[in-house]
Order: sequence, then C-alpha cells, then structure tokens
Amino acid sequence: MLFEEVASYYEKLENVSSRLAMIDILSEMLGKAKRGEIRPLIYMTQGLLGPPFEGIDLGMAEKSAQHAIATATGYHNEEVVSVSRRLGDIGDAAEELVKKTKLRRMGSKRHGAVDVFETMIKIAHTGGAGSQEGKRNLLVSLLTASSPLEARYIIRFALGKLRLGAGDATILEALSKEATGTRENKPKLENAYNICSDLGKVGEILTESGMEGIGKLKVSLFSPVRPALAERLPTAEEILEKMHGRCAVESKYDGLRAQVHIDRGRRRVEIFSRNLEKITPMLPEIVKAALSEVKAEKAILEGEAIAYDETTREFRPFQETIQRKRKTGIEELSRSMPLHLFAFDLMFLDGEDYLNKPYEERREKLESILKKEGTILTSGRIIVDKPRDLEKYFEEQIEEGLEGIVAKELNSPYVAGARKFSWIKLKRSYKGELSDTVDLAIVGYYIGRGQRTEFGFGGLLAAAYNEKRDMFETVTRIGTGFSEEQMKNFKKILDKIKVPHKPARVDSLVTPDFWVEPKYVVEVRADEITRSPMHTCGRDSNDTGYALRFPRIVSDGVRGDKSADEATTTKEIIEMYGQQKRIKVEDA
Ligand code: ATP
Repeated sequence: MLFEEVASYYEKLENVSSRLAMIDILSEMLGKAKRGEIRPLIYMTQGLLGPPFEGIDLGMAEKSAQHAIATATGYHNEEVVSVSRRLGDIGDAAEELVKKTKLRRMGSKRHGAVDVFETMIKIAHTGGAGSQEGKRNLLVSLLTASSPLEARYIIRFALGKLRLGAGDATILEALSKEATGTRENKPKLENAYNICSDLGKVGEILTESGMEGIGKLKVSLFSPVRPALAERLPTAEEILEKMHGRCAVESKYDGLRAQVHIDRGRRRVEIFSRNLEKITPMLPEIVKAALSEVKAEKAILEGEAIAYDETTREFRPFQETIQRKRKTGIEELSRSMPLHLFAFDLMFLDGEDYLNKPYEERREKLESILKKEGTILTSGRIIVDKPRDLEKYFEEQIEEGLEGIVAKELNSPYVAGARKFSWIKLKRSYKGELSDTVDLAIVGYYIGRGQRTEFGFGGLLAAAYNEKRDMFETVTRIGTGFSEEQMKNFKKILDKIKVPHKPARVDSLVTPDFWVEPKYVVEVRADEITRSPMHTCGRDSNDTGYALRFPRIVSDGVRGDKSADEATTTKEIIEMYGQQKRIKVEDA
C-alpha cells in the first residue's frame, strides 16, 4: 500500500465528522492493507509507532521539522515559520511549500506506507549527540520524495500532531466491519484489546486468524492488561444488594496503581501504571521485592503502590507517593520514603491465565505467593454479608487514613478494561459535595481577563467521554481555584496542543477562547450535578444535558496517569446524578 493512498484516506477522515462515515473510511483503508501492513497502518492511524505501553517517542523538535521542510523545499527557514503561522499548522505549511517548490523532486520514488513508518521508527531510534540533525536528515529524505499531501501527514505524524479524530473505539469498530462484515463483533475485539492493550496486534491476529484467533488470545507477560475499573454506589445497603448479599470488601489505598510483570528466571520485572505507561524505573524497591519476595517464576499481579511508614504503621498522603513520578533522585527517595505495594489481584501465574478465574480463587492464589511481611503485601480485606459490617470496615479504613473501600464480587472474573459492578468503590465524601471527584478531559481554555491577563489563562472547558459516540461532551467550565503556578503551567502545556477549530471528537455548544486536542485530564470536585441546556454531556431530546455546579480542580495540574479516553464517562455522570438525587431524598 502506498503512503499516498493512506494520506488521501487521512484527508477524507479529516473532512467528515460523523462517526459512521469515519468507520466507513477507516474500514475501506484497512481493507487495502496487504499482509504485514495492518499493524504499522493501525499504529500510524493512532499517531503511534507501536503499542502505547512501549512508549516509543519520535522526539522530533518543531524546529528540526521546520529545518527539514526548508531543506527539502529550498525555502528559508523564516518562510517556513511564516507560512506555518499563516496557516496555523506546520503540516499544512509543508504541503503548501512542497507544492510551490522549484527544487527538482525525486518524483519517480513513491513511498510505501510501511517505508514511511519504518523511517519514523529510525527517527525515534536516532539518539545521542547530534541526534536532532540525524532525525532531520531522515525527515528530509522522506520529504524530498513526497507529494504535497504526503508531506502534510508526514510532518504531522513526525510531530505527534496527526489528530485524525478517530479514537481506539472507532478503529476497533472499523476493524470489525472490514474483517467480519459487521460492526457487531466490536465487543469481542474490544475484549481482545483489553487483554493485550495493543490495537496493532488485535488487527494482525484478526486479519491472519479471524475471529477464532481473537477468541484464543491470552494474557502474556510484559504486555499489560487494561485495568478493571470500579463502579460507584452511595450506600452499604445498595452495594450488598448489587452483590447478591455477600461480597469481599478491600481497603482502598490512594497511591499509584501498578501492574507488576515478573519473570524470575530472566530477572526481568516491568511495572505499568494505570494508563499502562512503564513506570519501572520509578519503583526500584518494588522491582527488587518482586524478584525476592514473590513465590513464582512468572507472574502478573496488580496493586497500589503507596508511601507507608513501617515504624509508625502510617499511610502517607498521596502527595508523598506521587513524588516518585520524576526522573531523578529516585534511589534517594526509595530510601527516605519507601513505597509498599498492596497487591489486590493476580492475572497470570506460571503459564496460567487467571483473568477468567473467579475473584476468590485469584485472591487465594495471590495470598499463597506473597509473604506476610515485606514490601509487597496483600490488600486488607474482609468478607461481609451485613451492611453494618461493611460500614464498620469503611469507617476503620478512614480512621487509618485511607480513602475508603472497594467491594468485590466473589465469583466475578477480572473484567479487563471495563467499569462493571463486580467492583464498587465507596469513598469518603463531605456533606454538600458530590460523593466522588470526576476526571475530565480538557477541550479548551480561556484567556485571562482582569487580574489574570498576565498569565494568559482564565479557566478550562472540560468534558466527559461518551464511549458510545467516541466523543467528548462538555460538562463544565472551570474558572476558579487555580494558583498562579497552575495558571502558568496550564497555559504552557495547553498552548502546545491548541488547534484552530473545534476538534473532531468534541461536541460543544460553548466556544472557548482556544480549542485544544483532548489529551489531558484534570480531577475535579463539584457540589452537585445539575441539568443544563448549556452542555452536551448526556443531552436528551429536550436538548438538556448535565453540568457540574461549583467545579474546582483537585489535582495539582493534569492527571498524569489517565489519558483523555479514560476520562469519566457520560454514563458515569448520569449515574452519579441519579445517585445524588436518591441521597437527597433519603436526607429529606
Ligand atoms: P478509576 O480508576 O475508577 O477510573 P480513579 O483512577 O480516579 O478512577 P478511584 O476512583 O479513586 O480512581 O478508584 C479506583 C482506583 O482505586 C483503582 O484504579 C486503583 O488504583 C485504586 N485502588 C486502591 N485500592 C484498591 C483495591 N483494593 N482494589 C482495587 N483498586 C484499588
């Protein structure tokens, strides 16, 4: 498949906003891929060079890309900068300058889609001194032989600005349609995706071994499983009723979620975060304990890493745990403020896939491979069948300085990547506040007025994620509660991703001063959820959506462990609205 073809599909994608039209275009494009091409094609369409957990970063600086365009087209660097500014996009600038260039083009050489992908991989792997020059030369080699349209997407891809508007859910649906003739197999493909977190791999298995191959996919070491998520219910009675009268109740630790993959023979450990980034170097004491304390040759277990003082037996606040998310000084921190892992699940053990085994069996096995003392411990838990006992355990956890509890259904499998009632969280909350915080995707921001003019930042437009539509629906404007430092930081990071028009996956009736590509998530607390004609979140046939009342930021800045697609969903907002009404009626 030629890259020119891929580029023209990308152009078509950019020009449609209906999800069904996107699925049609994507499935037609995927259908053109030959053997061996589907994997790179999917990664490329995601704007990636491999599955996200491998974290392959092109590391291309905008300045290098400008230089590359200048060299390949014979224009001065200043001209490239000024055209980019005029068009508002450096990819569009590359397209225009390639169209206008007087330099002789290497027209006879046509790029294969896989060749472009492989050159990008080379760019990513070019490191060391003079790496920007090396990266630039590779980019020039692509641009000197590309058509204007190809240049547009090569540059956007190289700078991580592809923004085709197709999320993972849409790509999965397109794959289903292309390979099986119907969109209805999407849930099965999603299931496979939840097990391996690798859309390219799912696409490859599907095209090579069909749905049978998809059904056989098993969890494998060093390929993270998408985490199971918890639903919410406001009272112990409701939780027990949902759990058919009996369930496990575990302590809920407020730390960093960690999925630990262990291969003792090879002395290899990898740890993945909530959004499946490799965080191994940040947790040296847990890596060490994984090799010395866990009684298994090969295992995948999951838990919460949290700063815990063994002497005073005190859990430390989240702000202390999160200090680990930095690049330097880790060894020192691991001595002065060591973390413990409170393991709560087991996904794989010595060649056996545990995902489909019931919770009780997974938990029993987990306890059998861990010691009673050390760095890796099992999470606290009891089994209850009375609301009063659940409440008592909840109160005890709060006393201990923990966040609350997670109730777990005894016979449920590990439901990878989904929010189901087999896990239900109950957190401490205060009167007059929504029972839980929400995590919202930033889709736009406002420039500061009055006192804030100097920061160039006056607030955020935030959205929930609608899984069914694969769209971001606005739910609130957040204009208060920012420190000066936060305002500066938001402005800095959002400026890098601002776009001239409303992004394809955003549904909004409100227009902020600047739109941004949905990428970052902020944690927000509010007093209440109300019905509102202003916001698109959960909008019904009367054009009434849902909105937050008195929203304020809780996270220090953006939440580093969640991507926009992992924001609180519209469905959750509607559920929380329903629960809040119930509580009010009970209060009255
Ligand atoms: P979510 O993970 O549900 O999207 P979130 O990241 O904001 O939301 P919470 O709402 O606080 O997190 O609750 C779920 C999180 O609780 C899990 O992702 C996990 O990191 C953490 N957790 C702590 N203790 C446990 C436990 N015993 N069992 C399961 N999860 C736990």
